[in-house]
Amino acid sequence: MRVGVVGAGPAGITAAVFLCRYNFQVTIFEKDTIGGLIVNAWRVENFPVFYPLPGEAVVEILKNRLLSSTVKVIFEEVVEVQGTVAKTKSNSYEFDKLIVASGTIPVRLTQFEVDPKVVYEYRFLPESLTSLAIYGAGDVAFDSALKAKEKGVPFVHLFNRTREIKALPKLVEYAESSGIIYHEGEPIEKVESGLKIFTNKAEYNFDALLICAGRKPNTDFIKTSSKDLHIVGDACGGFRQMSIAVGNAVGTAMQIISEVNKN
Ligand SMILES: Cc1cc2nc3c(=O)[nH]c(=O)nc-3n(C[C@H](O)[C@H](O)[C@H](O)COP(=O)(O)OP(=O)(O)OC[C@H]3O[C@@H](n4cnc5c(N)ncnc54)[C@H](O)[C@@H]3O)c2cc1C
Repeated sequence: MRVGVVGAGPAGITAAVFLCRYNFQVTIFEKDTIGGLIVNAWRVENFPVFYPLPGEAVVEILKNRLLSSTVKVIFEEVVEVQGTVAKTKSNSYEFDKLIVASGTIPVRLTQFEVDPKVVYEYRFLPESLTSLAIYGAGDVAFDSALKAKEKGVPFVHLFNRTREIKALPKLVEYAESSGIIYHEGEPIEKVESGLKIFTNKAEYNFDALLICAGRKPNTDFIKTSSKDLHIVGDACGGFRQMSIAVGNAVGTAMQIISEVNKN
């Protein structure tokens, strides 16, 4: 039984490693680096099976687990899915079952994309920053601000467009004692290359801007569905937590095993 998995984040790795223990022939596609979005996390505190770890350490565990399994890893982007066929730019791969674990893509604010130092994920920030602006007020914005402080960025400014904070209270509590400079009710109105940032209140210069304006499921490349095509993890939409992505992937893998055993 040939199973294809699109995306080597927590969900894809979990499904792939799980299925390969049942002697399925599993191939996983990754367009970027192994580990997915969690690499950006400051500290993963809510995964019950290990003590708090930085995102990079979580990725090391996932990566080692994947690379020590019999899963075949192909570093190519899947540009189209037709049922159980995964197409990359150079090849077409046919499977008996296909699992899409492609996570999410950022909600882009294209009007601010005037400089390569405007990014949507922490890992894409330049090294050795002196000042960082973060736009957003959810978990990812606060988590990224804490990560920047921990990595020694002297000036971290968090701009919240409104007065409402959507982040986990614990993260806000950590942020309050970390030296992050918080701007409430201060939307960014314009960004000029260099990086000059204009808000409704003032004009600032920063080394980089990290936009955390939300994410949406990354499934546009799925063109045709099939009963043998499954979507798992953050790509499903709904709550976005690693434990949910992992549990969902195990559930799907077990469903596939039970379907195959029935036939
Ligand atoms: C800053 C930050 C902090 C976080 N902190 C926590 C936390 O503390 N606790 C927690 O539970 N969760 C946390 N999360 C959420 C967690 O990262 C996600 O819920 C989890 O990574 C989802 O796993 P996934 O495998 O579904 O998707 P992802 O991790 O997004 O992985 C998807 C993978 O698919 C690859 N891919 C996508 N499209 C294609 C394609 N077409 N072809 C090939 N490969 C493709 C991507 O490159 C990526 O590697 C955090 C997220 C962020 C951004």
